[in-house]
Amino acid sequence: MEWKRFRLLARWECLRRLARSILTCLAVTVGVTGVVSSPPLCAANQLYEVRQLAPHTFVWIPDDMMDQNGDPNFNRSGNVGFVITNDGVIVINTANNPFHAREVLYEIRQRTDLPVRMVIDTGSQGDEILGNEVFAEQRATIIASSGAEAQMRSYQSGLVKRMSLDPELPRHMRGIHLTFPTQTFQGTTSFSMGGQEIRVLSLNCDEPGNAEGDAAVFLPREKVIFLGDLYVNGYVPQMGSRNVQRWIDALGNVEKWNATTYVPGHGDPSTVKTLANFRGFLQWLQAGVQAGIQQGKSLSAVEDQLLSSSAFNLRALDLAPKAIAAVYNQLARARAAHVAPNRSSPSPVPQSRTANPATDSAVKGFLNRISSRALNGAH
Ligand SMILES: [Zn+2]
Repeated sequence: MEWKRFRLLARWECLRRLARSILTCLAVTVGVTGVVSSPPLCAANQLYEVRQLAPHTFVWIPDDMMDQNGDPNFNRSGNVGFVITNDGVIVINTANNPFHAREVLYEIRQRTDLPVRMVIDTGSQGDEILGNEVFAEQRATIIASSGAEAQMRSYQSGLVKRMSLDPELPRHMRGIHLTFPTQTFQGTTSFSMGGQEIRVLSLNCDEPGNAEGDAAVFLPREKVIFLGDLYVNGYVPQMGSRNVQRWIDALGNVEKWNATTYVPGHGDPSTVKTLANFRGFLQWLQAGVQAGIQQGKSLSAVEDQLLSSSAFNLRALDLAPKAIAAVYNQLARARAAHVAPNRSSPSPVPQSRTANPATDSAVKGFLNRISSRALNGAH
């Protein structure tokens, strides 16, 4: 089956990257003279990159690796931002386990001795927050939206349930202490630290009636936006509790902000054009699932059809069936609510908004990109 081939390819890519990292590491360690020097630093340097986006503004980007330690549902770490101000450091998200958070702290310490004063969690997903404890130890204030905090609490109770069903899970999560925000906000909040202005804005992406968790961090002077898992560049997204239409709308709004660099939760920072391509992917996914439902196709038939498209030439392919299923369930529920005359709850996906997404420029840009990729045989 096509899907098995995808999974094999994804695994092969992981192994290839690991082998490359080890070979590069050995080459650097042995060097020209053949003298072995400081391997721990070398190992730490090969599995991630720290990129400077603006003066004093950085992002830690891990390689596409599946971690053995931590929550298996979030085994790929998200990116972590950090901003060094005159009065201390602000960290944006904390990776998927304390080990990666310590790698980030190590990189911060290479650049400054100033204390880490604040952590901003842009959402509630495990790959954004499971390193919080490392910065709590540094006495940082941990900030998140009140919706994200509520989602973290339900993630915690879900974990307790999952651990009772899966005896392996406590072993994977040994040494990890889920650490909650010490301060929450609603809507928008902004503050200044060491002359650095920071705006944190809630974005309404969750299913109607659910806590609204996602926020963006905007540095107006640097024109940099950190979007956490609301944006992935070259990866399959985690749908989480997001409503696909609201997510598309929120990204459309973010594209109008006055920014030059958009930092995703996974993958490389980009311009607005690549962000719009990602919105195009969500619209393509929504339209494909919608068409399948209208034709009476089952979830597995829709899955087989969409997974065979080159649009899924992405990393984290293991998340693809989950993403398709989440969108399928949302749209099927909305359709059932739309069809049933006695239901008073509003449809989360009005038909008029999804009727003709192919005319949208983001979808066109996305489709052009995948067709040129297919022509070039690129992955
Ligand atoms: Zn993520």
